[in-house]
Amino acid sequence: MIDRAALLRLLEESGALKRGHFLLSSGLHSSAYVQCALLLEDPHRARRIGEELAALLEPLAPQSVLSPALGGLIIGHETAAALGVPFRFTERTDGQMGLRRGFSLTTGERIVIVEDVVTTGRSSGEAAAVARDQGAELLAVGAILDRTASRGELSVPLVALMQLDLPAFPAAECPLCEQGDEPEKPGSRSRPGSS
Ligand SMILES: [Zn+2]
Repeated sequence: MIDRAALLRLLEESGALKRGHFLLSSGLHSSAYVQCALLLEDPHRARRIGEELAALLEPLAPQSVLSPALGGLIIGHETAAALGVPFRFTERTDGQMGLRRGFSLTTGERIVIVEDVVTTGRSSGEAAAVARDQGAELLAVGAILDRTASRGELSVPLVALMQLDLPAFPAAECPLCEQGDEPEKPGSRSRPGSS
């Protein structure tokens, strides 16, 4: 089992965990920012992390993995491969989350949703709604990183390799701003984290 220190090391080695002064999409300021795609850039590392997540989910005996695109695609596929079950994904079309054309779930199918980072739980919640519409039984949400910090908006158990409680402050209380530093907006074309 990969431990927290080892995963942190992988995050830092891959450049996925950046430290500095960031303006998050939530409007909060933070001294750290995670770009999980960089962690999964190396296919061998992605496979290993998928195996670790699969080991956590295996006791639930899922029959398939469902992931919200785009953030969940790579880790969801690797996790499904390690579990030896089918992988499917949801995508947003005209603002509406739905199963990718051609995919279907069967009534009573035991599924897990897999994402890279769960922050607000929004993507997972939307994928969960899709799964329930199809009559599937949602067992858990699996993630590499749990950044929810107990905001608890998920209605099913969240199983994560690591909880990462990164400091975040309202702009007016940001200690970095107080030192006269200007925050940068990471990956301004996409939202920090993946959900
Ligand atoms: Zn600041």
